[in-house]
Amino acid sequence: MSGYHPYNEADAIGLARSFENVFSPGADLHCREIGDGNLNLVFHITEPATGKGLIIKQALPYVKVFGESWPLSIDRARIEGEALKIQHALAPELVPQVLLTNHEQAITVMEDLSSHVIMRKGLMERTLYPRFAGDISTFLAQTLFFTSDLGMSQQEKKLRQQSFVNVELCQITEDLIFDEPYREHERNNYEDSIADEAAALRIDGELLTEIALLREKFLTRGEALLHGDLHTGSIFALPESTKVIDPEFAFYGPMGFDIGAVIANLLLNFASQEHWSQDEASRREYREFLLEAVRGTWTQFSAKFRTLWDEQCQDPVFSKAPGYQDLYMDRLLQDTAGFAGAKMIRRIVGFAHVADLDAIPDDAARERAKRLGLLIGKELIRQNRTIRSIEQIIDIAFTAAAR
Ligand code: ADP
Ligand code: MG
Repeated sequence: MSGYHPYNEADAIGLARSFENVFSPGADLHCREIGDGNLNLVFHITEPATGKGLIIKQALPYVKVFGESWPLSIDRARIEGEALKIQHALAPELVPQVLLTNHEQAITVMEDLSSHVIMRKGLMERTLYPRFAGDISTFLAQTLFFTSDLGMSQQEKKLRQQSFVNVELCQITEDLIFDEPYREHERNNYEDSIADEAAALRIDGELLTEIALLREKFLTRGEALLHGDLHTGSIFALPESTKVIDPEFAFYGPMGFDIGAVIANLLLNFASQEHWSQDEASRREYREFLLEAVRGTWTQFSAKFRTLWDEQCQDPVFSKAPGYQDLYMDRLLQDTAGFAGAKMIRRIVGFAHVADLDAIPDDAARERAKRLGLLIGKELIRQNRTIRSIEQIIDIAFTAAAR
């Protein structure tokens, strides 16, 4: 990484000035670093006179954990920039436009989406997103189909896999999702009040077997170019618009991992409504919206993916084999359920949590919400290989909440 140095605000303004079609020559530019600074710098540059803006994101060569530095290759910025370009080409309305990538400086310059709200925050405020299921299902169908052996040249896909070998970020997923929550580990993080649940995970043989199968799938099935970290903190939303950001975990993996991430985060918020909805009626109403989003995400994804398959699949075997598409979609739903469950559990007992649950101020409500999230997550994992319909996933959440 010769020549690499972390940018300061003056560097960021200097680079921003070169975008003459965004900012006026010699304009007064303002710059603010808005990232949390643990992993990446995010500079927001604005021209107050015109209201125009740009985002400059730069990878740092380390992560801060326990106040210590853990080295992490800045090559992930190249992966993020390349993934954003591919995803933008496949779903232009749903992904920010990239204006520049500089691999040596680990920089991506992109469209400013500050008018949007991070969806996790919006969900905690009980915002309704009527477009979400339609938009995210389009994002998933377009990006997964057209990067898979169904929708692109199988030779080019192999070459593309080479440039998305994401060793270090995949290891984070492998450790944090498919390992640490199921044993004692110093990075695990949970309150004493749910220590019984965490201990039970470690000796639940049925669950451990399913987690091993999911881990195997994550390690071995290079089906499509995944976003790799598609939680509601990587989605910018407004009721009328949806944008997917932050694909630094992108790699070739099992499609159900991305679809499962969306569903897991909707269901984590579902659990957190123990607090964010203050009475039964409003809780029931918002949970209905969330379950409808889960249903719509799968049913619309499935319909769009099947249409792409019917109309655009070039593979001579896959396009004709009777019943193959149905078997493929059944397995994809099962993977979705299993990965969703694994993602819920890690957010409650593992290292990195979600604000939906952790920001609940009342101890009793927080404990109830976390136990509910764990119950849903465990059932999704336990039942994943027998799931035949999205209604079963919805039923798991509904039944768990009714207990
Ligand atoms: P990290 O990978 O470090 O999590 P993100 O890509 O999630 O970084 O960005 C961190 C924060 O920076 C986001 O939560 C959002 O507030 C802001 N941000 C990132 N990209 C944009 C963008 N294109 N437009 C506006 N804000 C952005
Ligand atoms: Mg992020």
